[in-house]
Amino acid sequence: MTHETDFHDDSRTVGETPEMATSVTGPQFEPTHERALTPAVGPARDVDGFVRQFLRELNYTQGVPLSRSTLNDQYLALARTVRHYLMQGWIRTGKRRRDAGDKVIGYLSAEYLLGRQLDNALLAAGLEDIAREAMKECGLDVDLLRSQEIEPGLGNGGLGRLAACFVDSLATMDVSCIGYGIRYEYGIFKQTFEDGRQVEVPDSWLALGSPWEFPQPDRAVQIDFGGHTERYTGDDGRERTRWVPAWDVQAVPYHLLVPGYRNGVVNTLRLWSAKATNAFDLQLFNQGDYAEAVRAQTFAENITKVLYPEDSTPQGRELRLQQQYFFVAASIKDFIRHTLPADFDLHRLPERIAFQLNDTHPVIAIPELMRILVDEHDFEWDEAWDVTKQCFDYTCHTLLPEALEVWPVDLLGRLLPRHLEIVYRLNEDFLARVREQFDGDEVRARRMSMVQENPVRAIRMAHLATVAATKVNGVAELHSQLLRDKVLPDFSEMWPDKFTNVTNGVTPRRFVRIANPGMSELVTEAIGEGWLTDLERLRELEPFADDAAFRERFRAVKAGNKERLRQLLHHRDGIDLPEGHLLDVMVKRLHEYKRQSLKLLHVVSLYQRLLSDEVDPESTTPRTVVFGAKAAPGYFMAKETIALINAVAATIDADERVAGRLAIAFPANYNVTLAETLIPAADLSEQISLAGKEASGTGNMKFALNGALTIGTDDGANVEIRQLVGDDNFFLFGMTEPRVAELQAKGYVPGDVYASSPRLKSAIDFLASGEATGGDPSRAAAVVDDLLSSDRFMALADFDAYVEAQEKVEATYADTEAWTRSAILNVARSGFFSSDRSMRDYLDRIWNVSARS
Ligand SMILES: *Cc1c(COP(=O)(O)O)cnc(C)c1O
Repeated sequence: MTHETDFHDDSRTVGETPEMATSVTGPQFEPTHERALTPAVGPARDVDGFVRQFLRELNYTQGVPLSRSTLNDQYLALARTVRHYLMQGWIRTGKRRRDAGDKVIGYLSAEYLLGRQLDNALLAAGLEDIAREAMKECGLDVDLLRSQEIEPGLGNGGLGRLAACFVDSLATMDVSCIGYGIRYEYGIFKQTFEDGRQVEVPDSWLALGSPWEFPQPDRAVQIDFGGHTERYTGDDGRERTRWVPAWDVQAVPYHLLVPGYRNGVVNTLRLWSAKATNAFDLQLFNQGDYAEAVRAQTFAENITKVLYPEDSTPQGRELRLQQQYFFVAASIKDFIRHTLPADFDLHRLPERIAFQLNDTHPVIAIPELMRILVDEHDFEWDEAWDVTKQCFDYTCHTLLPEALEVWPVDLLGRLLPRHLEIVYRLNEDFLARVREQFDGDEVRARRMSMVQENPVRAIRMAHLATVAATKVNGVAELHSQLLRDKVLPDFSEMWPDKFTNVTNGVTPRRFVRIANPGMSELVTEAIGEGWLTDLERLRELEPFADDAAFRERFRAVKAGNKERLRQLLHHRDGIDLPEGHLLDVMVKRLHEYKRQSLKLLHVVSLYQRLLSDEVDPESTTPRTVVFGAKAAPGYFMAKETIALINAVAATIDADERVAGRLAIAFPANYNVTLAETLIPAADLSEQISLAGKEASGTGNMKFALNGALTIGTDDGANVEIRQLVGDDNFFLFGMTEPRVAELQAKGYVPGDVYASSPRLKSAIDFLASGEATGGDPSRAAAVVDDLLSSDRFMALADFDAYVEAQEKVEATYADTEAWTRSAILNVARSGFFSSDRSMRDYLDRIWNVSARS
């Protein structure tokens, strides 16, 4: 390290930046008119400018010289340096949008599974090479610093990751969007294994500093809870209702940058953090009752303490409802108060905002807007409803009945008494319309009601959302169809035009360019620049599938990605992946409907085949199966499945007889960061949910875009993937949704399937005997018993078809050139799955806003 780079020397600075001048002069400094209008100039866009800014950050923000700095100091300084380059774009974007009075997309989502920010910021700002050189000049390795970042895991899985992809695409398309959400102090838990069982560790993502967020305590808003309502007569003689809340908290916004890809646009993610209105009760404190004095603070701040780690099964707890109301009430208030001009006429609200409800978590926003308009702005009820309906659209993410959120009325009435009244009145009006349109059909009215009576009186949030929303969408063609036909058929009959589909997508910036730089380079060499923001252009790769030299290079990239994964798992988990295997990957949340147990039965069956004398092991395809999955902490069967997979993995790993032919790896803590290394290395993508249960899936898209072939059921977006890539390049198996429904109606008996399939019987018996779990049958008991007694998601019914499809996989994989050709065609034909396309569909079909690019 040279002395020169150790400490930032101001004599090297070419001209002070105006923003430095401001900070030096302090609050008394009156900005000149031009200065107020023009954002400060950022650091010079070259290696020297980057080094200067980096050292400034290290010295003046971290307070250390380079020679004494830790890796974390260096990471924070690097992050803040990159942030500097984005600030001008952020300020300019905000000003431009305010001046133009753009309609804003208010994306309301309780989750954003963002992944690491530094990589994406470097890419968006076009600073990757400069940063690399600059760090080198300081004697540092940019990749090592990048790996320091703890990803903000503010989501559970697909739904939260989708929100993150969508805001990325909207910024890249220069659409005005504010992503509203919750700044959980602890995100999704960190998963570790003890004796193969999942143990959850708190995810303290903020502990070492969070360089990407801007707290705005002066823009905090108050959020009320509890209490009662009162009727009174206003000055104008009108009957009114007022909510008299019992307690309140402050909602403090934290802003995160959402940079568009190299277009100078930076949108905002506004995440809310709860803070007690009064830090503590001074009187109690003075009396010496310290614990009681801070009780209210602890209570209030619990609201945003931790993400609910559930996927697909809401728990209906009070704190969860507090979180939901807290963030949507803060978002609406903030939008009206701080984003709209002061004198804005709220009758015109739909011209300025479209709130997109990401599942039912934010649906309490509907009665909240009604309350604001009627109680606080003196709107007539019908007038308020007319405005409210135009402001909301609803995305449904599920088909599982148990995943449809309901809130018991006693809980809702206690926490939000005015909102409950509003929902009751909305429901009355709505049911009157239903009766009118359907000749007083009471049975139908009861089915469609926003209020369910059994097992407890509760509000059906999906019904409320569907009645209020201008548009309701499912997230893949099949899912939207089933939504219309099975989940909300009465509603689609009443309002056929309300329902639409937007198939999900993923951002190619993170999941292709950042995750797979080798393939990205190869693609650019083949078809030129521009595909990263126009992903359908990947079609131009099709002819290269028939080019042997290109296939060779494509394989080399895949081999490089596998090597990168080997390195990562070696250092991260102490796992040593064998070389030269077919890499078979199943990564996603652990849920019975996703059927990790079916994959496990297949593994057991492969293991048995290798141990039997029936086949020559040398003739089988060497295969490594990688699992990655977190289970909700209270989900018993999911946790048993994890423990069982780990037990089988350990047994196979220890068995010399199958060494080199079969291996199972289960790295802990599957998250976005791990996905970015795992997916580009995969040969085979496992998408094996029971047909009709997976709304869309987005993991499936990431794999196809990275040149893995899919083995999958006719479910979710698999259907569209197969249509696009072609039957020859996709391994389809299993029952279709209608067949599943038929079997269900007939009465599904897993024991019959077990008895009639020798291969299945053999695999289950082997598992149950303990032979696949180190001789301990108790390890497999819970999963095996469940499969044989209920098997809710019909894993056994699809087993034979699955094994046959896997045999086809092996045969195809043996033909290296044919496999590579299919892999290239998967990439070439998956451009449709860019979240840019999803956003264009939302703009056309739902928001009626046009993109600038
Ligand atoms: C994409 C993604 C998911 C969603 O995966 P599915 O296979 O669609 O369920 C979940 N978790 C992470 C970390 C992801 O990146």
